[in-house]
Amino acid sequence: GISNESTNDKSGEQSTDNIFHNELQPSQEDIQKQRQTLPAYKARGSLIPMIMNNQVAIIIGETGSGKTTQLPQILYEAGFCHDNTSIGITQPRRVAAMSVAKRVATEMNTPLGQKVGYSIRFEDQTSAETRIKFMTDGILLRETLLDPLLLKYNCIIIDEAHERSLNTDVLLGIFKNLLTKRKDIKLIITSATMNAAKFSKFFGNAPQFTIPGRTFPVQIIYTKSPVDDYVDSAVNEAVRIHMQTEVTSGDILIFMTGQEDIETTCESIKDRLTEVYAKKNGVGSFDEIDDIEIFPIYSALPPELQARIFHKLDHSKRKIVVATNIAETSLTIDGIKYVIDSGYSKLKVFNPRIGLDSLMITPISLANANQRSGRAGRTGPGIAYRLFTQESAEEDMYVQTIPEIQRTNLSNTILLLKSLDINDIVHFPFLDKPPLQTLLASLYELWFLGAIDNFGNLTSLGSQMSKFPLQASLSKVLIVASQNKCSEELLTIVSMLSVPQVFNRPKEREKEADQARGRFFVPRSDHLTLLNVYNQWKSNKFSSQWCEKNFLIYRSLARAHEIRRQLIKVMRENDIPLVSSGSDWNIVRRSICSGFAHQAAKVTGLRKYVNLRTGMAVELHPTSALYGLGDPPTSVVYHELLMTSKEYMCFVTAVDPFWLMEFGPLIYDIKRVKQYEDDCSTSLFGTSDDHEEDKVNHDFVDVKIEQF
Ligand code: ADP
Ligand code: MG
Repeated sequence: GISNESTNDKSGEQSTDNIFHNELQPSQEDIQKQRQTLPAYKARGSLIPMIMNNQVAIIIGETGSGKTTQLPQILYEAGFCHDNTSIGITQPRRVAAMSVAKRVATEMNTPLGQKVGYSIRFEDQTSAETRIKFMTDGILLRETLLDPLLLKYNCIIIDEAHERSLNTDVLLGIFKNLLTKRKDIKLIITSATMNAAKFSKFFGNAPQFTIPGRTFPVQIIYTKSPVDDYVDSAVNEAVRIHMQTEVTSGDILIFMTGQEDIETTCESIKDRLTEVYAKKNGVGSFDEIDDIEIFPIYSALPPELQARIFHKLDHSKRKIVVATNIAETSLTIDGIKYVIDSGYSKLKVFNPRIGLDSLMITPISLANANQRSGRAGRTGPGIAYRLFTQESAEEDMYVQTIPEIQRTNLSNTILLLKSLDINDIVHFPFLDKPPLQTLLASLYELWFLGAIDNFGNLTSLGSQMSKFPLQASLSKVLIVASQNKCSEELLTIVSMLSVPQVFNRPKEREKEADQARGRFFVPRSDHLTLLNVYNQWKSNKFSSQWCEKNFLIYRSLARAHEIRRQLIKVMRENDIPLVSSGSDWNIVRRSICSGFAHQAAKVTGLRKYVNLRTGMAVELHPTSALYGLGDPPTSVVYHELLMTSKEYMCFVTAVDPFWLMEFGPLIYDIKRVKQYEDDCSTSLFGTSDDHEEDKVNHDFVDVKIEQF
């Protein structure tokens, strides 16, 4: 007992050391004290009996009241983990799952991965001892495939349910049925102060409990006229606040949409402050300014850097955090007094007409804006500067964000539900029904890929595909590659496609970086270029220096390597052979075509193409290996589209037109195409006009005659 505890102590300290290097290290005593001040901890006396007495409970509390970090601990302490069962807590965001697991491990003074662990896609930090398991909602969904009754849990907390992520919504639907089969399991749904009544109603008027807690008033200031450039306005506002208020008055939190505008914002604030301080007291660079620290946070940021936003700085310093909507409700940073809200976020939006998900910068809803403002009033009265007018807030903004299930591709969800023997998707108990068009377009994609048959039943290919935690077309490519005896190669390509960015392009050295990238090009294929990068990295013993020298992002490659390892495991478990084609790269391109024949384009001019299915004009992305070719390949498939001022194809590979006929006879046949177009003509985004329809069909006739 005692000796055990003391070793635990040490390793507990070590694990926090890793996360919070440089930080003023709080003692375990301080941590316990802080935890006991949290409203959720204080409410434990009423929470426990309510959970004991009900199978489902809805728990509502202000962000930062301790729902995520305290509820699992309270349940654990109340003896909920008997008979080797665990408490599972789902999060819509990977970053949040990791971060809160670390925090709870610290609070429980135990090394992460033992009693407290987390599991996110391609990364499992749990062990047989794990009793409190944080995970993304996607992971729990996948677990229901292997263990439909979730027998290893006696309690599931669906956290951040108000966020209405696709996987959370599907889990809620699955639980509706599961609860009748597992009378002993507890389901707790936690939500910020919105949507709660809807959850309660969905589960037969399950009791709601609101964690009492106080928040301070937040003054809301709108702009007088619409802003042109929210990054620029946010920078101005942050610099003004910093110069005009006492550093000790509080920290600043800025909401942006993603990595790009976050980095620009951080850099501009640094530049602007350096200018101001140069005039004021002659500093020469940002590093000489000693009363401010600026922290970005977004999901692609390395975890060590993410953890820095929680650093306590000494009193002479102010913190500026520039965040995505992760800081809206998932993570709470203490000490914020000023919020600057750009009014935008990135949302995944599906266009069923072109069968495509894309991330779009979209105005936030009023509910988001209020959550963001609320971050300023956690520890004292605060001020929120909204970079939009009161008029636009009242007249143009949605009251609530449209749930993800109503705006994204559902192919993977349908594949998963069908694997769970839930065939009647239309009558699945959805909290909010997805649009029929989206369901049809997704079913069509699965049918086209051969994952379901004409009756909508899962095929054996589809059932194999559902084993992979990948988008449907990538799973198919892996399975086909294995039949084509080149799964080693495709495994590498799929892993490389699953990481954010491989090539580094620093601002001052763009030319050099482009040349370095060019040296890896396999002329007719970006996919093979990725394979080439990985293979060369492997020949150089997976060296990080080698990556740096060649303008490659080591972190991304290392992650691809890890993903590759995880996918090998899935292949072994499902008896899908791993074979290499050696130097035959033609068969590799053919296998890629098998999963992407529905994303094919034919050439219309230099770097210009037209999508074969939709007739949409698309172009090669300037970073593509095909961009510099004098005689562009006539037919290509692409991995994804990037919509900016133009529609760019990213990750492009030249294919033989006959392969398209082979893998897509259902599409490259005029009658079917016409029907598909008709089916999808009333999309989320309104009807396409007749003229466009004509053009689509005309293009297809063209294709038939010219190419096939
Ligand atoms: P909720 O889920 O209700 O929004 P949390 O349980 O996430 O609240 O957070 C409760 C408190 O725990 C926060 O106010 C914050 O002070 C503290 N906290 C959470 N994560 C960390 C962390 N990584 N480092 C330091 N403090 C943290
Ligand atoms: Mg939370």
